This record gives sequence, structure tokens and C-alpha cells, in this order.
Amino acid sequence: LFQQLVESLVRVPSVNGDSEAQFGTFLRGHLDARLGKSVVRLEVADSRQRPSFISLKPGASRDWIVLLGHYDTVGVSDYGALADLAFEPVRLREALKSDPRLTKRDREDIKDDRFIWGRGALDMKAGVALLAETVRELADHAPASLALVLVPDEEGDSSGIRTALPVLLQEIQDRGGRVAGVIKTDFTEDTGVVYAGTTGKLLLNAFVRGVSGHAGKPEAAISAASVLADLEAALRSFARITPPPACLHLQTLTGKYSTQIPSEGWMFVNLMIREERPQDILEDTLEVVRAGVGKKYDLPVVLLGFGSSEPAGDDPRRESLAAVRKTATEPGIYLYLTPPFYAPMSADFSRETRLGRAVRRSIQDWNRNRTGHRASLKPFYPYISDLSFFYSDEGTANFIQKHCPVSLDFRPLMSAKERVPVFDIGPFGMGAHRWTERVDIADAELRVKVLLKNTILCYYEG
Ligand SMILES: [Zn+2]
Repeated sequence: LFQQLVESLVRVPSVNGDSEAQFGTFLRGHLDARLGKSVVRLEVADSRQRPSFISLKPGASRDWIVLLGHYDTVGVSDYGALADLAFEPVRLREALKSDPRLTKRDREDIKDDRFIWGRGALDMKAGVALLAETVRELADHAPASLALVLVPDEEGDSSGIRTALPVLLQEIQDRGGRVAGVIKTDFTEDTGVVYAGTTGKLLLNAFVRGVSGHAGKPEAAISAASVLADLEAALRSFARITPPPACLHLQTLTGKYSTQIPSEGWMFVNLMIREERPQDILEDTLEVVRAGVGKKYDLPVVLLGFGSSEPAGDDPRRESLAAVRKTATEPGIYLYLTPPFYAPMSADFSRETRLGRAVRRSIQDWNRNRTGHRASLKPFYPYISDLSFFYSDEGTANFIQKHCPVSLDFRPLMSAKERVPVFDIGPFGMGAHRWTERVDIADAELRVKVLLKNTILCYYEG
């Protein structure tokens, strides 16, 4: 039973940075049992011995569809006293029934047998089970060339996809093939939605050097605290991108108490990018900062460029700050980038490819005969995703690296002419990354399975 399959995957913890290697052993056994002999099995481990699994089902077509999933989950501290039950779907559900923290919606869902509760059920062990079952069921389909890629560390630094992707591309190339597109089965909290493309992200940093002065004479100083506060407000109202920029960190660099007005400050801001070019977003941001803040304090606003970059250590944000602080000796607002960078993958491009047409046809067919949630196609998977690593725009990647003092560790592995469409066709559920995480197993088994399989059949059968 599909439900039991998903529950068995949930029962073995795979918390990011903690229990992924042990789960890897379990997943290897699961794949051995579910996938037939005709599927070629490869493994590659990252520097922390966490395995990525690549399973190749060669077909007559030279077009390979990559089926991508991550098997790691976030931690369980948010479950509080119920943390011990986070990997026990049945017992957790029983315990949650009397939990006073549940919302009205939670209380309705907990009575409904269609939901499996527990850490990873939604994000994304139901998706992992679906992918493996799809490859199993299509093992004898002559034309289809499928590559199932299951990786760790998607909730961390994406080391899984980074180590797996070069091996995958080489294997496909050795077979005379090419990547036709990528389908991930990560979750949606928006009923029935399938996504084309994925959201990217830049981490914009600002180092502020003001003018120090005595607290008794603030008019003679330029306080880094005031500049940072205005920067935060100016960037937050920058309406060109959705969602708007979000400040993740902001501090003055004084350290201890003194009556001196702080002259140095630092912040970093999340910039989500979609169809826009990162170059244009940075240029526009520069204008917003110049007009809104630079003018007010009569400070120059500089986008820093770097000739070479140091390899990043454990804290690339602080390492970058140390480098910038040394060189930015004059008063000013200095903008630069730091890791991580997630590349945006175009929704428009994805939609209009052959795989995009197969996805749309599969959605139409489902809606005509559906026995569950209505399906629809929307632009941009809304969360950070490993789909970003199928990026092929070297020019943009180089531009971003140029403004980053440490190595971004982001190198397009695809050449520009190999630009691929990406999609997310995942199950519906609620509470991802929260203690109310649950997946609609009926939706996964019906809608998602049918959409996924029909997309592949549509692609290869015309
Ligand atoms: Zn996920």
C-alpha cells in the first residue's frame, strides 16, 4: 500500500546534518526492493558521507527526464514535548488529537484519514515514494529514459545535488543523451497546484561606514544605526520584486557599550528573483539605496566588485564582511553579495518547452476525469529549491561571483545551449517545517501520481 510505503519512510529519521547517512542505508534497501534489475543504480557521497542515489532507466529516447527529490528533513525541536513522536505517524496523530494548540483547520484534518502526520511526511517523503514508484511502474516502457535522483542536504547547503549533478550529466552524456527537463515532487500548500520554474535568491549585503562622534553631539556624526534603519525601510518598500526584500540580519559593529556613536554597521537582505535578471535587480536596488538613503546622509553608494574570490569557510557572510571592512575605509554604503545564491529558473521558458506541453496536457486530462483536487499550473515554485542547480547562464553566474568577496560555490554545470525546463508536481499538504506537518496521501496517490505518469507518457508518446 502506498500509505504504508510513505509511513515506512517517515519512520526512519533523516534530519538535515544529523541522521541522513543512516536514512541513506534504509533508502538504498528500499530502492533495491522496489526498482527492477533493468534500472542502473549509482551512488555518490558528499564530504560528510551522505549518499545521493542516481537510478537510471534507459529507454529508446535520447531525451532524459530527471525526477528529482530530497530525502532530508528539517529538525523536530518545534514538536516540543511531542518530539519523540515526530517520526511515528500513527501515534503522533493520536497524541495531537487532544492538543490545544491545533487550529480549526488542523482539527478538521486530524479527523480525516487522508492525512499522514509527521516530520518529512509532506517535505518530502511522500514525493520520494512517488518518484520511486513511477520509475518502477515505467520500467518496461520502451521509449522513456528516466533518471531518478534522490539527494540529501536540500534543507542545508544543497551538497547532495552539487555532488550528484556532475555524475548524472556525465552518465547521460555517455549514453548519447541530453536532459529534456526536471520534475521535482516537493510539496504544495496551494491545493492542486503544479509549478513551472523556480524562485531564485540573492543575498545582498550592505556594509555602512559612517562618521563616529560623541553621543552628546550627534549632529556632527553619521550614525551607522540610523543609516541601517533607513536602508532596511527603503529596501522593504522596494516593490519591483515579489515577495519584497526581507532583512535577515542587521547590526552595528561596536561590540561593547560606549558613548560613541557607532560608525560601522552591517546587514544582509534576502532578494527573491523570478523572471528578472539578477543584474537588473542589483542595478535597481542600487538606485533605491542611492535615492532613499545615500542622498539623505550624503554618502556614496558603491556596488563592490572583486577581481578574485577566496574560498568560503564555515561562515562566508562574516568572512566577506571582514574582507570588505578592511578595504572600505571611506564613509559610504557598500553593497556586495555573499553565498548562498540560488538561480531563478524561468517559468515562461519552462511552460513553452516540449516537457511543458506534456505537463499542460496531463493537467487538462486530469481535470476532465478527475477524482480529486482540481489541478492547475502556476509560475514559480515559491521556495528555495535544488532545481536551481540546473541553471545554465554562465554570464549571470560570473556577474554574481564578481560582486562576491568569497567563492559562491555556484558554477553552472549545464552549458547555455542545454537550458532545461523545470517543474514541481507535488502532493498537497499543510504545515511544512512545522509540528503540524501532514500530507494528503490520497492527493499524492491519485492526482500527483497520475499527473506525473501521464506527463512522462505524453512526452514520449507525442
Ligand atoms: Zn522540500
